[in-house]
Amino acid sequence: MNSALLDYYRCPETFADFTLTGNLSGDSGYFQFGLDAICYGQCSGGPLARHATGELYDALRDVGADQNTLGLPFNPSEIIANLRYERYASSGHEVGARRYAKLALQRAYYSVRPLLMVSVRKYLQRIQLRDWKEVPFPNWPVDLTVERILGKLLATLLKANLIDRIPFIWFWPNGYPSCAMITHDVETAAGRNFCSRLMNLDDSCRMKSSFQIVPEDRYSVPQSFLDEIRLRGFEINVHDLNHDGRLFNNREQFLLRAERINRYGREYKASGFRSAALYHNLNWYDALDFSYDMSVPSVGHLEAQRGGCCSVMPFFVGKILELPVTATQDYSLFHILNQYSTDLWRRQVAQIMEAHGLASFIVHPDYLIEARARDTYKSLLAFLENLRSEGKVWLALPREVNEWWRARSQMKLVCQGNNWVIEGPQNDRARVAYAVLEGGRLAYVLDSHQASARRMVFRNGQISSSAARQPSVLTESRLRQALPLGLETKRNEQIF
Ligand SMILES: [Zn+2]
Repeated sequence: MNSALLDYYRCPETFADFTLTGNLSGDSGYFQFGLDAICYGQCSGGPLARHATGELYDALRDVGADQNTLGLPFNPSEIIANLRYERYASSGHEVGARRYAKLALQRAYYSVRPLLMVSVRKYLQRIQLRDWKEVPFPNWPVDLTVERILGKLLATLLKANLIDRIPFIWFWPNGYPSCAMITHDVETAAGRNFCSRLMNLDDSCRMKSSFQIVPEDRYSVPQSFLDEIRLRGFEINVHDLNHDGRLFNNREQFLLRAERINRYGREYKASGFRSAALYHNLNWYDALDFSYDMSVPSVGHLEAQRGGCCSVMPFFVGKILELPVTATQDYSLFHILNQYSTDLWRRQVAQIMEAHGLASFIVHPDYLIEARARDTYKSLLAFLENLRSEGKVWLALPREVNEWWRARSQMKLVCQGNNWVIEGPQNDRARVAYAVLEGGRLAYVLDSHQASARRMVFRNGQISSSAARQPSVLTESRLRQALPLGLETKRNEQIF
């Protein structure tokens, strides 16, 4: 029951002992865990709803504490998996025949797509996506349901008993408050030919990014093209096989294509993969021989495949690490929403940073050939560059995010004398953090003694720009009140 929480926070197991308070329902449905966290799955309380709308049963009222154990009416690991694997998506909003009719239409569309003019394609996509504002769940434009459920569990553990603070391994290396990465999917020969200029643009803001290459049918992939990307310090990943939108149509065909995709991965020395149009089926990922994938949106309202993993943090799908797409794609911004400003992207980054998550962007070289779109992208680069200079985000390549998250997943917190220390690979980059309650709400405290001179302050999981300008440090006496028995105050800790 506690594996999702332990994997997410990397906290010692002794702090997270859960038990079920009753028999789980046979069927799955929607309920809530507090006012702002919608859950989908089995629950011993109820009633459970078929749709994520209206008044939902609140499982928080059936939570109980008993000595060292927290009694819950649901299994949090199952609920988190239902969100990440989008098991909720087969119920509720689009059910049965309507869902399959839509899928059939998408397949028909993809088969004639190459013959259509761009304006006709845009028109058809707008029709297909016209009801996106009515989708009640996940939450547009960023969904933090997984983060909210896990944060609420931690707050409930702190409130219910016994412990004043829970140590965990901070999410990002060197105490960075959050992370951002930019990825470029190369769709056509024109996009491929624009990649050099795009690298110049990225370099002008000291940004390194990844390029996802379609290996077959779309355009030729000369060795000189791959060499340039690699030599300039950018990253190469595989983008689908031939981008016909049919990768996941049936299992047999997928396995044949996966073999070829894996072969291109080895040839390109790529450790990451992204499918065409963010189509995905996580249940088949065991056939993909990649270290990480980037095909699942946090919230998929504007994607051909609706749903979303409801999270802005990486998570493992078997041996593959999923780095979710958490910002709206440039194509949707420009051609579905008709926006050429960074307002939506800034709004999304602000929400992602509140949860200390990963802001991940897809920007296509193909669409940046147009000056107006390129100007919007330049504004995004300047915005991210500014956040980095203020120490608010770690700007990284996807493979660096993957390497860090894998190393963190191998780390362990152990008690040495009066201190918690981190053991495992790359532990010199890792920071001990504490979950505490501040005014009844969850806050994170980062040990600034370890975290060098970073002076960012977050309260209740929320970024506060005024607080960031005027850092507030927990005093030793206040901290002492919040210490577990037998632990002494650490020096100069800061609230996140
Ligand atoms: Zn693509």
